[in-house]
Amino acid sequence: MAEATWKSRLRVVLVGTTHPGNIGAAARAMKTMGLERLYLVAPERFPCAEATARAAGADDLLQAAVCCDSLVEALADCAWAVGTSARSRHIAWPTLTPEGCAQQAIACASEGEVALVFGRERAGLSNAELDLCQAVVHIPTNPDFSSLNLASAVQILAYELSRAGAEEPVETPARESAASVEEMERFYVHLEEVLLAIRYLDPRAPKRLMRRMRRLYGRARPLESEVSILRGILTSTLHQISR
Ligand code: SAH
Repeated sequence: MAEATWKSRLRVVLVGTTHPGNIGAAARAMKTMGLERLYLVAPERFPCAEATARAAGADDLLQAAVCCDSLVEALADCAWAVGTSARSRHIAWPTLTPEGCAQQAIACASEGEVALVFGRERAGLSNAELDLCQAVVHIPTNPDFSSLNLASAVQILAYELSRAGAEEPVETPARESAASVEEMERFYVHLEEVLLAIRYLDPRAPKRLMRRMRRLYGRARPLESEVSILRGILTSTLHQISR
């Protein structure tokens, strides 16, 4: 798909950033690779002179940055989101290489908004936050020292995107829209309700099954119309068992 199109549909989301300097440095990293859309989820200090200084001329991205209270809010309208992790063994989520992540992000941009999600300097992203993403990307590192500076991680993934975008040879035909994160969240709530009602899900240990369900449906990336069918099946199921 055209470079201007996928770039206009791609956002970088920084979650709970502690140091404003890292926000500025991330904006600079994005701008060098032609990315423009920055979302900030509950940053500790922003706006901030330190962020502007470290942006080194990319302060237009800071001015246009969208601030959100939660990651759900930042991803609500996204068709696809990828979380980043400094740790390589996140078995619960399909893990992509930086190159694979760039290719998939650009392909998914033909179906809607896409997001690259970065975590806190100290604690990274929580499991609940990773649950909102359809995949995880890990930048291969020294296994004994795997945590990059936040803005360095942004730089590497932004570079891979710009490389993959430049190589993209043909227009991908527009598909029907993939269901958004918000729609998928509503689906998971509904699914959990039904699984509890039919006693398939053990209410004392619900996490594991629901995470596996997220992995399955995240891989399938259903279209809006397909999620409507699934929701219809769930509604009928509840209706039947309550009779
Ligand atoms: N102790 C944290 C480290 C967070 S580093 C953890 O284990 O997750 C801050 C952020 O930089 C991470 O949340 C991630 O967004 C990014 N990051 C750092 N190193 C990375 C790597 N090797 N691969 C992908 N993202 C990385």
